[in-house]
Amino acid sequence: MLVVMRHGAPAADVERVVAVINEMGYVAHPMPGAQRTAVGLVGNDGRVDAGRIEALPSVVRIIHVTQPYKQVSREWRPESTVVTIAPGVSFGGKDVPVIAGPCSVESEAQIIRAAELVRDAGGTALRGGAFKPRSSPYAFQGLGVEGLKLLVRAREETGLPIVTEAMDDEGARLVGEHADCIQIGARNMQNYSLLKTVGKLGRPVLLKRGMAATISDLLLSAEYILAEGNSQVILCERGVRTFDPAVRNMFDLTSIPMVHELSHLPIVADPSHGTGLRDMVTPMARAAVAAGADGIIVEMHPEPDRALSDGAQSLYPKQFADLMIELRGVALAIGRALPPSPEL
Ligand code: PEP
Ligand code: MN
Repeated sequence: MLVVMRHGAPAADVERVVAVINEMGYVAHPMPGAQRTAVGLVGNDGRVDAGRIEALPSVVRIIHVTQPYKQVSREWRPESTVVTIAPGVSFGGKDVPVIAGPCSVESEAQIIRAAELVRDAGGTALRGGAFKPRSSPYAFQGLGVEGLKLLVRAREETGLPIVTEAMDDEGARLVGEHADCIQIGARNMQNYSLLKTVGKLGRPVLLKRGMAATISDLLLSAEYILAEGNSQVILCERGVRTFDPAVRNMFDLTSIPMVHELSHLPIVADPSHGTGLRDMVTPMARAAVAAGADGIIVEMHPEPDRALSDGAQSLYPKQFADLMIELRGVALAIGRALPPSPEL
């Protein structure tokens, strides 16, 4: 439930509303905003009897949030949230940043070369997994902490902020210390204890849609992070399982405008995992920007044929450079822009 208060309501009136909500046994979230002052109420199972609150000074209106997710919903917060992972690198505003890099960090030479290629083509941030959630326990599992250190080296060399995955609490702490944004992968979207952990860490989070998750499931997972006090969440569409073996996953373009309608959080698109096929990545990336994606995350490897994971969906450096030129044009056509690469 949301208590909307008169614009410019005195602090004492806001405090009174907070006190009454607390007395009723719920949790109050004061939300001073540019357009309105509101106090959110969470912790209720069903509909709250708002009679006591309605009568308080400066209270204009009560909104009962109809969705199962609350703080994530547009009803809760009408303005889009902008998540900044590093100076000048923001998701959810006019900019459409491009996060690119290999599926996995494999060696110092590989990740530094990848970072240079990303920056030279005008990319905004570097991706690369150090902790890898592989379907097979015998597949390359990532370099772990050593991989995080190599990512930090690549950031020192190029100035690109780092987005990398954490798979457990200890990994989340380590990724939080080394990287600019903690990725929660599709396989962990419903790992609720991990979501609570990254909620408490207070670092920006890239939350990927599970491969069999509904949009509502995705938003409820994001709610776990916001409920811990961390609203710096970027959602990510990365395709869902399909009956058709022609593609690895079916990229759900509709989720982009759908999430924008339902939530104030930014959503980026991952056409690499979303298709699994290198030649499908560029068309889907263009389509995602046209559909309003707040960013793109894409796999690019200096030598995709030698990649230790996801080589078949990794772009060749030239394909990535061409993609960047095309995305610039698409963004411009809809009144948005690819930001410049961060300065060193
Ligand atoms: C990845 O980004 O490399 C990855 C494992 O993605 P997902 O969790 O979407 O499968
Ligand atoms: Mn991958």
